[in-house]
Amino acid sequence: MTSQTIHPVLGVGFGPANLSLAVALEERDRAGTAHFIERSTDFQWQREQLLSGADIQNNPFRDLAMPRNPASPYTFVKYLASQGSLTDYLHLNAKFPLRREYAGYLTWVADAFRKQVDYGRSAVGLSLVQGEDGGEVFRVETDDGGEYLGRTVSVGTGRSPRVPPAFQRSVGPRVFHSTRYLSSIERLGDRPPLRVVVVGASQSAIEIILDLLARPQVQQVVSVHRTIGFRLKDTSPYSRRVFLPEFVDYFHPLSNAKKRRLRDDLRSVNYAACDQDVIDRLAGAQREFELTGSERLLMKPFSEVVVSRSEGQGQRLILRDVNHLTEETLDADVVVLATGFRDFGSEQGDEPYHPLLEGIAHRLPLDEDGVPVVARDYSIELKSPADSPQPLRVYLNGLCEASHGMGDAGALAMLSVRATDIADSLQRDLLRDHEELVASGTSP
Ligand SMILES: Cc1cc2nc3c(=O)[nH]c(=O)nc-3n(C[C@H](O)[C@H](O)[C@H](O)COP(=O)(O)OP(=O)(O)OC[C@H]3O[C@@H](n4cnc5c(N)ncnc54)[C@H](O)[C@@H]3O)c2cc1C
Repeated sequence: MTSQTIHPVLGVGFGPANLSLAVALEERDRAGTAHFIERSTDFQWQREQLLSGADIQNNPFRDLAMPRNPASPYTFVKYLASQGSLTDYLHLNAKFPLRREYAGYLTWVADAFRKQVDYGRSAVGLSLVQGEDGGEVFRVETDDGGEYLGRTVSVGTGRSPRVPPAFQRSVGPRVFHSTRYLSSIERLGDRPPLRVVVVGASQSAIEIILDLLARPQVQQVVSVHRTIGFRLKDTSPYSRRVFLPEFVDYFHPLSNAKKRRLRDDLRSVNYAACDQDVIDRLAGAQREFELTGSERLLMKPFSEVVVSRSEGQGQRLILRDVNHLTEETLDADVVVLATGFRDFGSEQGDEPYHPLLEGIAHRLPLDEDGVPVVARDYSIELKSPADSPQPLRVYLNGLCEASHGMGDAGALAMLSVRATDIADSLQRDLLRDHEELVASGTSP
């Protein structure tokens, strides 16, 4: 039994997803009910890919609050105005703001919630313990030996990087995922000449290739991908309906098989596809190299890496043509894995659930595929003993693509509506109970 503070809502991770939840709770005068733990030493958004010229890929007005409450003090417009840059921004007439500008907006909002966040603490375990009142509460353990207690937990950690099997034993300073791009490439210093292999055909892959080509120490960039090349993202407003709340209502009740079919069908809205502007920039650069006889950029389409082993300072890769099954060897100084993120589900390479849930795995209700059942309000109701007064819930904030559809793949456009759904659900029972406890003087 423990006498520590029990937070009504304990958030793990303080990226845009849980930040948006903090905004939604404050709007309901319930800011004090939530506390967050964040691994980074300060707020950051995609810091490792804050590349020069990169822009965001959603309407900036579908921000942390605007779709729910246009009068919120935490909208992108309010941020621009607070910086005295509203006119400058509007004058640009840009379709999408630079990633750097949007990161500035998110950081500005996060600053307002600083008191509710413990930065520099990484959650390493989640379990259930007995609270002072005898009921069960969640216990989150941190990497520095600390612990936090919560009546419910909102897991907003983002997904784990996907590392293809061939690279699983070679990840290190010279073989790294795109989520470690800037710090890793900068750590290598300006020692020329580097031959860098970029694996993948995603938006991240093409942005990283463009960034590498602007670095003088990079002698050659080799782009390895299984497809024919960089394909256009499906930006039709009809396909992009996946980013509307109505789509979540339509998708959530479907069977797993139908969800899988629909996700496959809509893949190019978000995966292995790129924006027109970066495709144009890369195709232009490639033509320039061809005209000048330069081999600075090499394309290896229809290829996958089947073996990666260290060879001296570098890496020796064996590539296989996915159609002809012919193999070739390629030596690299550095390999960047722009290979995306692991989904939660039962497909090959998926994780059945977030690794943090391992400690409560025995209490997770599973569906026919062995994957936890996530309700429309983004919560998993844990299996409880028969005499339990009320069921325990853990919320998955931004981790529900398999159950809720493409809009949940961390898309910024869905943040505020998802935060509304979660805050509504919390308010329905958990926070109401908390208020009763506070009124009766039995809770802080
Ligand atoms: C380069 C890049 C650009 C993108 N651009 C866009 C875009 O323009 N538009 C769009 O809609 N989507 C975009 N996305 C998708 C992206 O998922 C969202 O932008 C957004 O970051 C999702 O927010 P999140 O809070 O769910 O996850 P994250 O942003 O990943 O935040 C999760 C936070 O949790 C912390 N954390 C993780 N594990 C732990 C732990 N165990 N303990 C404590 N803290 C932890 C992390 O440090 C991080 O701060 C982009 C993704 C990438 C990789």
